[in-house]
Amino acid sequence: MKAWRFYGFGDFRLDEIPIPAIQPLHVLVEPLCVQPSVTEAQLAFGIPTLAYDRVKRRLETEAPIQLFGHEFCARIIEVGPGVSGFHIGDRIAARAKLPCEKCTLCLSERSYLCRKGPVIGFDQPGCFSEIALLPEIALVRVEDCISDSEGACLQSLSDSVAAVETADIRMGDSVVIFGQGSMGLECLQIARISGAGRIITVDVREESCQISKALGADYALNGRQCDVVATIRDLTEGNGADVVFECAGGSSKQGMAGTETVRQAIDAVRSGGKIIGVSWFGAPLELDIDLLRERSLRYLFPDISTKAHLEHTVRLVASGRVELKSTVTHQLKGIESVPQAFEITANKGKFQAINPAQVIIRV
Ligand SMILES: [Zn+2]
Repeated sequence: MKAWRFYGFGDFRLDEIPIPAIQPLHVLVEPLCVQPSVTEAQLAFGIPTLAYDRVKRRLETEAPIQLFGHEFCARIIEVGPGVSGFHIGDRIAARAKLPCEKCTLCLSERSYLCRKGPVIGFDQPGCFSEIALLPEIALVRVEDCISDSEGACLQSLSDSVAAVETADIRMGDSVVIFGQGSMGLECLQIARISGAGRIITVDVREESCQISKALGADYALNGRQCDVVATIRDLTEGNGADVVFECAGGSSKQGMAGTETVRQAIDAVRSGGKIIGVSWFGAPLELDIDLLRERSLRYLFPDISTKAHLEHTVRLVASGRVELKSTVTHQLKGIESVPQAFEITANKGKFQAINPAQVIIRV
């Protein structure tokens, strides 16, 4: 089969390798649609971000290796011994971070807290290949009414579901979302059906503001055209918002907002309010903790998405409560176009992409 393998950062090749052997409690799948996450796309080119050291170490000691590809929709072509919940022909998506099933947390029904298990695409091959071997424990069935393209967004969407759950929105809470890329637009839609009152979104791209408005934002502020913090304070009776999602931060070289939106989030949230840190920064950032302490702010980070989150995510898309089609801006055909998908996804600003670029492996 053909599979993308990494020989080093920025050096990936489409190699011919043996089809993996089926294993107990695993399935073999043919990927239908795959997209790199922003983290994966940046790591592919050696840009420091989450898991950089871990990937660097593997490349130095094990290359060539199959890396990445945890956001996908695939079809099962073979089931291993002991697999009970899935059949040949089922379309599936998967969660990326898996429990180890051995530690005290896993053995006491708190596996959602376990950080010792493997991550698909990082510790074991993902789906940038013609065939892939996946553990049953990771899988969720993709309903017929969900397209392959939408199916490839489910893993990332389940992270947004976990982020909104972490926010614990109370009925009528005012919500601000900085960044209207794919996760910002997802948090908007999920917050809207989770009790949010007034929803204010912020982006500097006019087309993102338009989509945001269409997907339910009460106010979609263009950060280039107004004083964002002052406007948010005006719209929240001078107090600031109850909950702020920060989904815009990150390296300005990749078109992200740097650390500016963190400062704006702190200024835009009410005292005692919550900031949910969704962004990855790839480097330490300076923060005046006293400011947060003085105003009793809660700076929270999303929980790992669980099987329950992923199953809920499928229901949200199947029932039309979350709309994904308008966020998919780039689709490429054929496994050969994976490098182009990395390029677009690592530089979404330059390519005016919202969702990561998708690769339709099987047309
Ligand atoms: Zn564990």
